[in-house]
Amino acid sequence: GGVLYIVATPIGNLADMVPRAIEILQAADLIAAEDTRHSRRLLDHFNITTAMQAYHDFSDGQATERLLTKVKDGQKVALISDAGTPLISDPGFRLVQSAREQGIQVVPVPGACALIAALCASGLPTNRFRFEGFLPAKPGTRANRLETLAGVTETLVFYEAPHRIEATLGDIATVFGQDRRVVLARELTKTFETFLDGTAESILKSIENDPNQRRGEMVLMVAGAEPRADQTLDDDTIRLMAILTESLP
Ligand code: SAM
Repeated sequence: GGVLYIVATPIGNLADMVPRAIEILQAADLIAAEDTRHSRRLLDHFNITTAMQAYHDFSDGQATERLLTKVKDGQKVALISDAGTPLISDPGFRLVQSAREQGIQVVPVPGACALIAALCASGLPTNRFRFEGFLPAKPGTRANRLETLAGVTETLVFYEAPHRIEATLGDIATVFGQDRRVVLARELTKTFETFLDGTAESILKSIENDPNQRRGEMVLMVAGAEPRADQTLDDDTIRLMAILTESLP
């Protein structure tokens, strides 16, 4: 039967392309790509000649269903995005959701993902984290979103655009306070890969002193809030204590 493959591609360094991704893309009947012109370069590099078709989540529902009809007819369709893992701040959710609803086989082909690459080398706690994707572009809306996150105790991970990084770091200093640890990962897997580690303010200073640090692709990470003293017990323990307290004479 047909299969829908969700295939990760490199986030900068072509050597991060996994062999299985190359095999599957070569053998597929069709590659659905976010931007076919952009992906052509990657496919050429790996001698992949499979036909390509553009796919966006904002393509109408009919485009999604037409693609899935091909899979139901027995074709192997592979979804890729411009870089990294599809569906992670990239198109594909509607496609995969609808495929699963229709019992279509969906197979992941894992590889590069900026959020995981940044987090695992950041030195921030990785046992629990919250991926927030891109913050809202509008300053007021962005500050509001950050306020709702100020009490979150998990490591926060954001994707951010270079032209907004200074404004966002400013907001983080204001909303999360001066002491919160921040790590900015830039140009991951590329020649000028950099990790800046400090506070929002100190990183802002480094960026102001070195305009190169303002360029390129970025993942912004913020340490979680210190758990409040009355919240050091986990939810199950709190529930159990409530039950026990009730049954006390
Ligand atoms: N699906 C992709 C993934 O798996 O990481 C993310 C796609 S999203 C549209 C693009 C954003 O990911 C960039 O704006 C940046 O925040 C982050 N990103 C992608 N490549 C990166 C890299 N090499 N270094 C740092 N951040 C990167």
